[in-house]
Amino acid sequence: MSNQLSVVDALPGVAFTAQGDGRVDFVSQGWTTYTGRSAADAHGRGWQSAVHPDDLPALLTGWNAGVNGTAVDIQARLRRFDGVYRWFVLRLNPLAEGQWCGLFSDIDDYRGVPTAPLAADLDLRTIIDCIPALVAFMTPDGALECVNCHNLDYLGATLEELKQWTVGATVHPDDLPGVINAWMHAVRTEQPYRNELRLRRADGAYHWFAARALPMRDTVGRITRWVLISVDIDEQKRDKALIAQALAEVSASEDRLSNIINAIPGFVWSAAPDGSVGFVNQRWCDYTGMSLDEARGIGWARSVHPEDAAPLAEYWGALLQSGEAGEYEARLRRFDGHYRWFLVRAVPQRDEWGAVMRWYGENTDIEDRKQAEMLAASIAIERQQSEETLDKVRSELAHLARVASLGAVTASIAHEVNQPLAGIITNASTCLRMLGADPPNVTGALETARRTIRDGNRAADVINRLRALFSKKTITIEDVDLNEAAREVIAMLLGELQRNGVALQPDFTDDLPAVRGDRVQLQQVILNLILNATEAMNTMTGRARHLQVSTGLNEHQGVYLAVTDNGSGFDPLDAERMFTAFYTTKHAGMGIGLSISRSIIERHAGVLSAAVNDGPGATFQFSIPATREGS
Ligand code: ADP
Repeated sequence: MSNQLSVVDALPGVAFTAQGDGRVDFVSQGWTTYTGRSAADAHGRGWQSAVHPDDLPALLTGWNAGVNGTAVDIQARLRRFDGVYRWFVLRLNPLAEGQWCGLFSDIDDYRGVPTAPLAADLDLRTIIDCIPALVAFMTPDGALECVNCHNLDYLGATLEELKQWTVGATVHPDDLPGVINAWMHAVRTEQPYRNELRLRRADGAYHWFAARALPMRDTVGRITRWVLISVDIDEQKRDKALIAQALAEVSASEDRLSNIINAIPGFVWSAAPDGSVGFVNQRWCDYTGMSLDEARGIGWARSVHPEDAAPLAEYWGALLQSGEAGEYEARLRRFDGHYRWFLVRAVPQRDEWGAVMRWYGENTDIEDRKQAEMLAASIAIERQQSEETLDKVRSELAHLARVASLGAVTASIAHEVNQPLAGIITNASTCLRMLGADPPNVTGALETARRTIRDGNRAADVINRLRALFSKKTITIEDVDLNEAAREVIAMLLGELQRNGVALQPDFTDDLPAVRGDRVQLQQVILNLILNATEAMNTMTGRARHLQVSTGLNEHQGVYLAVTDNGSGFDPLDAERMFTAFYTTKHAGMGIGLSISRSIIERHAGVLSAAVNDGPGATFQFSIPATREGS
């Protein structure tokens, strides 16, 4: 190399290499010797300052024509170190793709002599040998004139041998017709040409070359010779072939992959790290009726339900920022305009440094699940609403039932109130009589007056209890003594029981703990159970009617109250049915007494149940947790 450089430096004139656009990157020693300036001064476009200002425009035009393959005779004056301008001719030859090799030769002494014979340019030979390409010169009619050393080395022949060879001896048979055509065409049109061909190396191996043929002309434009420059591009070709093969393999595996992806029974997509979608599978396209191109970028967003679009975009933005996997539910429009719910899942794929390279996503149809959820939600709402309505109806019914049983207890009430009223009247007249006697019996009258007051209070008590039982609407929670509550109800019903010929046997356990609850509601239950028992014994003939009301403590620390009759009893299969609303076997029954009673007891955390007796009749019993001492 250093040897070759010294050859270049020894050249008379200025040799250089440059880009096609005129930027010089190397000048030979001749530059410094002639201009007296450093090599660095010539680099880039610095060399142009040595060109005579009058000649520069023509020189640049010539340069452009030269690099475009239209050879022209470029002549210009260059300033010598002592300020004297001398004429030079510029020759440009391609070196490699975009690279040129040039030589300014001093022609000041020959100015006016248009073309120098090749022999005169023989210095050029050294330069040509430096060009890393096969260079050959041909006569205008195509006969080989001279070649550079690389050409001889590659083909493994002397110039004399080469001159004997036919073109077929060096060019690959498959490329031969193309080469001959191109050459014939170039000679005929006198236009440069380029093509690619395989040339046989000395060892028989073929290498790919990019060949160019450029005509060289004299000052009147006649072609003086052709220069053929062939650059070895075998490696690039092989790389290209490898790339093509790799691409083919990639696209084949992509085909396979896309077959697999399209077989996935869901929607699959991928997006760039910035979120712009690059791929959606066929199923996605089939569903939305959009093409892959339409879906790309942010096109897919048009398939999202308007109500879900903004929240989904916000969620997607946050996901892109965080780089974490995530999922979101949204409705996607089907090709026919119908929307279905999907679960949109996105997972990032990262490079070895953890940066997100791609997002992969999958959308799963969750319409059925969503429908079920929405149905469940609406059922829950409806249920809540209907429970509220039911509560209202229940309290209305409870009131109705109380009013209904009012009729049944009228006789008993009359009896209850009649007794004290009769007492009051009797006592009042006795009192009057005693006071009217002579002398008046004041002590007796006082005693009778006291009895009158007692009877009056008794009557008022009955009326008050009745009012409480039949008109009360609000609930008061207090400690209730079940024995006492039951006694009050029984006292109220004594007349009714007597009228029906029922013998009542109370069996109360003393010192029962209290239960917490609403006294009036619990009395309503007891009243209902006793009236039902009485009615069950109504039709009974042939045996005495016995009614037992008992209280006690059961094994679970619950206070119980049981009403046992020896009436008609019931079919054990109906044991539960009796507690459903509107179940009745009575002609004028409403069938709500037991259902309301049970709901009252359950609200007191207790249970109400019915059982047929061993003998005739039935037992209805409820139990309620006892309040603990001190609570
Ligand atoms: P109603 O008394 O208006 O029929 P209830 O809900 O109080 O409504 O009673 C429902 C049904 O349960 C009665 O019609 C009756 O068939 C049955 N039943 C209730 N108490 C007794 C009982 N002590 N013995 C037999 N059957 C009863």
